[in-house]
Amino acid sequence: MTKSRFDHPFRTFTSSGLGETAKTQLWKAGAPRTIDARFPRTLLPILLLLALLAAPVQADQVTSYSQMVARLNRDAVQSPLIRIAALGKSSSGDRTVWMVRLADPSNTSTPRRAFILCRQHGDEPVSTEAALALLDDIASGKRPDIAGELKHAAVYIVPMVNPDGADAQTRNSGDGADLNRDWGMFHEPETRAVYAAFQAIRPQVVLDMHSWDEGDPFRGYCLEAPRAGNPGDALIAQAARDLQQRGAEMLKEKTGQEIAITNYGLDSDPTLCHRFFLEKAGVVSLLFETQPDDAGQSLARRVAVAQSAINWLIADVASDPVWGQIATRTEKHLAAAQTAGGIAPAHLAFIDAAREAETMPRSPLGTAARIVRNAARRIPSPVWWALGVYVLLCAARPIFTPRSGLAESYVEISARRSRKRRRAVSQRIRSGNTASYKSPAASPLTAKSGMIGSEDNADAPVRSA
Ligand SMILES: [Zn+2]
Repeated sequence: MTKSRFDHPFRTFTSSGLGETAKTQLWKAGAPRTIDARFPRTLLPILLLLALLAAPVQADQVTSYSQMVARLNRDAVQSPLIRIAALGKSSSGDRTVWMVRLADPSNTSTPRRAFILCRQHGDEPVSTEAALALLDDIASGKRPDIAGELKHAAVYIVPMVNPDGADAQTRNSGDGADLNRDWGMFHEPETRAVYAAFQAIRPQVVLDMHSWDEGDPFRGYCLEAPRAGNPGDALIAQAARDLQQRGAEMLKEKTGQEIAITNYGLDSDPTLCHRFFLEKAGVVSLLFETQPDDAGQSLARRVAVAQSAINWLIADVASDPVWGQIATRTEKHLAAAQTAGGIAPAHLAFIDAAREAETMPRSPLGTAARIVRNAARRIPSPVWWALGVYVLLCAARPIFTPRSGLAESYVEISARRSRKRRRAVSQRIRSGNTASYKSPAASPLTAKSGMIGSEDNADAPVRSA
């Protein structure tokens, strides 16, 4: 039995009047192949799937909730400086509000503690990306400076206060609530969980990180503190303005970015996070805003500036002598504010991430998707564009090819062959001739269809079973 084209690893798109078998023979004889003829058609769906998986990764680099959890676990496994704790469930009940503790394990009782809140608004991904990038760097040992600073300070970061909104790409939470209008009221599980953690941590400073929305009148970066005369401890408020000044100067120096100094007055909504923490909880508290999405800066640039803001705060809290004095003062306020909102401090159970990561359920499909996605991520987007165009061209080719030149599917071909075999056998039985049979090539049906080279089938004698 000669090797038919069905045994050939590559299927072909026929674009000329040349029969399939003749064309295959030309290949074997070393005739030049066109690019479409060489394209292994069976790989088409796989390449298409790869391109689809890679497309969202290339379209935006925003980390989803589940990707964040995976990264936090990985970072905590890699670095003893990083520990994670679950603060509570989001309003949908589907996701957890996670907190990261950055601390030197030999020095967890430091009085200097900073609390950084990211992404209360789900559609403002800059702060989450900045925090995760920094944690990745610390985990892979790229930040010995921060490792040194953590000998003098502990930093607590909530990288995604609003995981439901983050996954839905909405400002509000799963409850439809604006979490940054809920401080002091604590109607929402996310703000309650974060405030309970705050009470357990007792930090001296809170940094609440946002990005302006497209509709906001303010378009640049800013650090915001209270105006003089706002409620709260005047000394703490002054410390906030001093910190704001140091931050703007340091960020300008490190990133070249102009950071506006803004101050809120008595007309500002007191349920905003940074205002609540300063006026009601008695700690130094600042709001950080980056440019909105449509203001001309790439996400990467805004993430870099936001990451510098986190770097700066850690360095400031670890090194500036003022924090020692503030620590004494805030302790008094924190004790008084302990019952604010009627929320008891959380018991913070920092997870042994190594064990947790191992026990996290992983479906084989999820693992496969992750492997493919990670591989796809390493391929630059122009390659994906080129591949996508190529796949589209190949897929569109049969549309522009004359009907007679279309290759049949395997199912059609094998069904046709079975029919021919059955017919040949019954013909032999009818004629009583078991030695030979009439070639299916000459059968009227095959001759009439003329869709595929019938030579293939002609040279495949049917053997009695
Ligand atoms: Zn916001």
